[in-house]
Amino acid sequence: MCHLLVIEESEFALRQAVVLYYETKEPFYLPAELAEGEEVFLATKNGIVAYAEVLFSEYTTRPADPHWLTEADEQERTYACLDLISVDLRHPLLGSPLAGLQVNPGQTDLKVRQRLVEAWQAGHFESDVTTIDQAKNRRMERFRERNHLEPLKACCEMCGNTQRSILEWHEYHGHFKTLCPTCHRLAHQGIEKREDVAATSDHALPEQ
Ligand SMILES: [Zn+2]
Ligand SMILES: [Zn+2]
Repeated sequence: MCHLLVIEESEFALRQAVVLYYETKEPFYLPAELAEGEEVFLATKNGIVAYAEVLFSEYTTRPADPHWLTEADEQERTYACLDLISVDLRHPLLGSPLAGLQVNPGQTDLKVRQRLVEAWQAGHFESDVTTIDQAKNRRMERFRERNHLEPLKACCEMCGNTQRSILEWHEYHGHFKTLCPTCHRLAHQGIEKREDVAATSDHALPEQ
């Protein structure tokens, strides 16, 4: 079964929470009554930000979590304990209001589930890498770039492209730069080329 859980961000800081819990690999609780093993898409009003699996549900008072922005009452409710599979704050499904996607919160039927899973996975392309180590590094880098929370600059820092909706973060020596997708691809190709030179010859690294 598959469920779309929409979280009110004035009550729970969902984006901050999923980035943290994905990095620390900690499960966390949200109010929902879901069966073990159920798939869950976590969404804000502006679209989907994470894909998770239910570990179990528990009838209890609200489990402590610093991402709650409202005071806890003593009321017992059912909370689902969730394990994150993937998180993407710059996925194309975010920024598509749920009405536009024609999906309703709650249980989804098989057709909607199929559509959501395919759309989510399609946004998760890996760039061309050749070794497992490179792929691993690229995956972590990509996670940090796609889930960096600062506001983007108004234009691409390389070519000046001002199309806000396509701009993304690029991690460079521990800092983040705003780039358009074209300059972003070039930036990564530049890095890989430099690594090749270092690995295969005695020449010093060229100046960047
Ligand atoms: Zn650019
Ligand atoms: Zn990058």
